[in-house]
Amino acid sequence: MTRILLLSVATLVMSSASPLVASAHDQHSHTVERPAPEDPQLRVEKITDNLHVLFGSGGNIGVSSGPDGVVLIDDKFARNAEEILYHVQQIAGENDNLLFVINTHLHGDHTGSNPEMKEAGAMIMAHENVRTRMGTSYMNKAWGRMNEAKNEDFWPVVTFTDQASLHFNGITARSIHVPSAHTDGDTIVLFEEPNVVHMGDNLFLGMFPFVDVDSGGSMQGMIAAHDKVLAMADADTVIIPGHGPITDRDGLTAARDRLQAIYNRVSEHKMAGKSLQEIIDAEPLADMADLDGFIDQGGIITAAWRSMGGDFEGPSAE
Ligand SMILES: [Zn+2]
Repeated sequence: MTRILLLSVATLVMSSASPLVASAHDQHSHTVERPAPEDPQLRVEKITDNLHVLFGSGGNIGVSSGPDGVVLIDDKFARNAEEILYHVQQIAGENDNLLFVINTHLHGDHTGSNPEMKEAGAMIMAHENVRTRMGTSYMNKAWGRMNEAKNEDFWPVVTFTDQASLHFNGITARSIHVPSAHTDGDTIVLFEEPNVVHMGDNLFLGMFPFVDVDSGGSMQGMIAAHDKVLAMADADTVIIPGHGPITDRDGLTAARDRLQAIYNRVSEHKMAGKSLQEIIDAEPLADMADLDGFIDQGGIITAAWRSMGGDFEGPSAE
């Protein structure tokens, strides 16, 4: 089912925070001057006058601004909230009212400031599995610990199953679900103007990706997500990864081919009857050591193995 959002609803809600009735303690008003951070953690990169990216720890934030207000793609950690709002004001000036935050998926480094962004006036929008999983505690075998349910303050208030479009600032932003990819609740966001895609954590550029099999993700789905964006992209498309620097169609193609190579190599070993540990010990990705990071070779081999249905009890099967 596709749910089309009407911005007029958001405008109606936001009108209660009109500057005409704002007071000094009105946190929803753009008349609040947000102070510069004492210890800056984020770096701003401009794609166009109306589209910026906030880098730093946690997932990359897209900031889409204009006369109607601001839409954010993801919101990092709670500790980043004040600095995010400061940059929103620096970028958007008097049009800094927050309309929506689109969560690309549920992970805490992309949704950690949801309560603060709601407080600042935003509606949180995401795939419905984000809301479902945020309200559920479940085992994460990859880390050997529980994913604890989140307080309701974090939950998205607008959800969709297939795709949803926002029409604001004279542009269209399409949120498109990619099934069983980084998780089972992933969204990629296509800004038709100015030809920019935010891929969430379906793209880790320059490093092995995290595939959250325990949250319904799969390597096959991540490869399919790469293919979906490649089918939409042209030579001028700007591609924002969830982690890593901004890239383009060629950079995405290279990342896609590496992910397919990882999958194929693990698959060959598995079909030859090797165990997970035997595959890891064979070091089939030794030539990709430059991609070692948050996820190492053992981690990505394990993710590929589990994506193929291989048994896995986790690192702490005590
Ligand atoms: Zn993630």
